[in-house]
Amino acid sequence: MLVFSSLSELRGWRAQQTTNPIALVPTMGNLHQGHLQLVKRAQQATSQVVVSIFVNPMQFAANEDLDRYPRTFAEDCAALEALGVTAVFAPTVEDVYPRGVANQTSVTVPEISDILCGASRPGHFRGVATIVCKLFNMVQPDIAVFGQKDYQQLQVIRLMTADLSMPVDIIGEPTERADDGLALSSRNGYLSTAERAQAPFIYLLLQDLAKLLKQGVSAGEVEQRGLAALTEQGFRPDYLSVRRQQDLQPVAATDTELVILLAAYLGNTRLIDNLCLQR
Ligand code: AMP
Repeated sequence: MLVFSSLSELRGWRAQQTTNPIALVPTMGNLHQGHLQLVKRAQQATSQVVVSIFVNPMQFAANEDLDRYPRTFAEDCAALEALGVTAVFAPTVEDVYPRGVANQTSVTVPEISDILCGASRPGHFRGVATIVCKLFNMVQPDIAVFGQKDYQQLQVIRLMTADLSMPVDIIGEPTERADDGLALSSRNGYLSTAERAQAPFIYLLLQDLAKLLKQGVSAGEVEQRGLAALTEQGFRPDYLSVRRQQDLQPVAATDTELVILLAAYLGNTRLIDNLCLQR
């Protein structure tokens, strides 16, 4: 497995790749089975898979967990090598933002970036869209794989790719869960034992709420019941919302492709999850 720790090394290799399509799996490292599932999906599409590992400072606000975000580079590389990944790209912050984050030219995907997670994390999706745009320009992939776990992020990236006519096929891969239903996430490591035992409630709730929607209960009623249930179970909900899948706008009576999205704090840890359904 090749390991590129600078943009120039990556570019030198990329210039020689002229035959097989290249797939990119962008990550912030601390890899778990969810990330590895994205890698396997990429490997179904092509033999040339590049995994980027970069904890992107531009998508963290000053009060967020950038400094304590888990970094496990050696273990990540071992897991990727075992899967037969072609290359890991792990650039430095200086390589990615040579003029500093504050001076960085940025990509903003309007409307979708300011709602839901974007409302509570101002600037977050601008940071995400910018780093993904830069990674696309650096790696020049034909395909890129993202997780549905971060559903709003996936839709932001789909819109950016379409709006800017980027020649990259975006694949969204279903959420990988622990046996008890909790969506795998690097941030689950922040949970105490008691919180970890409580956390699977989120997925049970999403499944119950999906049933209600299919039975014809209105989106507003489902949101109210969901928020009340989260609070009752000791979560501090940030939002719980029923939206249409494509653009995450509020549902109209005629919409059939829906997604329930939520973000909630358990102690100091902010957990997100979502469930897609048809009604
Ligand atoms: P992150 O390292 O958290 O930025 O995530 C990198 C990629 O892995 C993103 O496309 C995420 O959506 C995806 N991902 C994270 N957790 C999961 C999961 N449990 N199942 C599927 N994909 C995931």
